[in-house]
Amino acid sequence: MKRIYLDFAATTPVRPEAVAAMLPLLGNVASNPSSVHAEGRAARAVLDAARLTVARALGAKPREIVFTAGGSESIGLAIIGTARAAAERGRHVVTSVAEHRAGLEAVEVLERDGWRVTRLAVDSAGLVDQAEFAAALRPDTVLASIMLANNELGSIAPVTALAATASRAGVLFHTDAVQAPGLLELSVAALGVDLLSISAHKFYGPNGAGALYVRSGTPIAPQIVGGNQEFGLRAGTENVANIAGLAAALELACAERGANAARLAGLRDRLEAGIAAAVPDARFNAAGAARLSNVSSVAFADVLSAALLIRLDLEGIAASAGSACAAGSLEPSHVAEALGLPDEYRRGVLRFSLGHSTTGGEVERVIAILPQVVAEVRGVAGVV
Ligand code: PLP
Repeated sequence: MKRIYLDFAATTPVRPEAVAAMLPLLGNVASNPSSVHAEGRAARAVLDAARLTVARALGAKPREIVFTAGGSESIGLAIIGTARAAAERGRHVVTSVAEHRAGLEAVEVLERDGWRVTRLAVDSAGLVDQAEFAAALRPDTVLASIMLANNELGSIAPVTALAATASRAGVLFHTDAVQAPGLLELSVAALGVDLLSISAHKFYGPNGAGALYVRSGTPIAPQIVGGNQEFGLRAGTENVANIAGLAAALELACAERGANAARLAGLRDRLEAGIAAAVPDARFNAAGAARLSNVSSVAFADVLSAALLIRLDLEGIAASAGSACAAGSLEPSHVAEALGLPDEYRRGVLRFSLGHSTTGGEVERVIAILPQVVAEVRGVAGVV
């Protein structure tokens, strides 16, 4: 039985073009971009080219791109690094309760160091209220961090408006855009953000490669020290092969964005219509909000998502209960918890996330099997 992978928001396979960019940089090649010899200069050239590609994709300057070992590191550097570097301006940050754990735990680090944190509540789509956001900004606020697209729901925050509000208040703005490449346009100028995080493995690049856009002049302190790499903002010999893979994948993600997003929206809408017809009491989270075209978050009453996932896995279908990070837990994720779902739905949230290889046939198979799986799991006495 061919498996059906519907967990592209957790990670994507590395696309052949990214592999092709990486392979010549692996194996019998010495690649330390800081070395002055020819081998080092060759590695430096690869790194510079990748930085230019990423900068172009985001509408930034190459000097504004810092490579990291993934999204979590990029987010931590943005939040902790900027807050610490701007501490003399104030010690208050604003974020939301529905951020990825990388953001939530970065502000906890600051909090333990005496910072004050405002965590804004979210609506049923996982989005903060713009007026509440504006009201949360205080004279001692130095940074706000609100994710662009929620990884569990796909909902898209009005980042352009939020960043403009922050800017008027003299507050720096970071956005976790990890779920966005290939699905949303990512112009840092249009968004008006000071800092933006991406991660290659969400757009068909390798695991363990990410980047942080840092607008020129933004105060930021390195969190990994011990070398001058990445303009002194991230010490450590660069992972040249992974970075080349990230750049190749990002360039293609941007070029294919329109067609990709439209195709996936059609498949996602069909999936939701099929599920709605077969399981009439299913609830589609964030369905009324602007959202990524590849994510469907569905809540089922009186079932545990973990039980549904196990049954689906046995049927050859890989989905998720929200984020991969919450996997294995029977409790609702912090995002599901924040949505204010009725009690009987709280622990029955599934996330289907579609991607390049998803076909109409796969969607039909899920629609055919899911009602049976939900009914079976509901029939097991005492599961909830
Ligand atoms: N932010 C969001 C929205 C994510 O979906 C993820 C994915 O896990 C991350 C951050 C963390 O990225 P990484 O796995 O590259 O550390």
